[in-house]
Amino acid sequence: MVAATKHAKKKSAYIAIVRSDDCTGCEACIVFCPVDCIDLMQSRENPAEKYVLIDKETCIGCVLCARYCPWDSIDMIGREPFEQRAELVFM
Ligand code: SF4
Ligand code: SF4
Repeated sequence: MVAATKHAKKKSAYIAIVRSDDCTGCEACIVFCPVDCIDLMQSRENPAEKYVLIDKETCIGCVLCARYCPWDSIDMIGREPFEQRAELVFM
């Protein structure tokens, strides 16, 4: 029997991060994402205000969303530094 870790999916080196202040909720990125990891969200205070959130575990770092965002509101960043920073913040 082969160890499960041998088949563990390799995580991408980069992940997409949305600058929610710049995001208009136009949904263009959702259309292009090949792994369907972008969700449209609605502001609680103002339901007309929309933005997207990216599931960083599922993101494969393909860059399509960043390339096609008409508002240039998605940054690609290194997964490792991001996870290290997140660990420091949430520890
Ligand atoms: S980088 Fe690719 S996989 Fe990640 S959210 Fe953007 S389109 Fe989806
Ligand atoms: S394409 Fe850009 S502006 Fe449009 S929803 Fe996605 S991140 Fe927001």
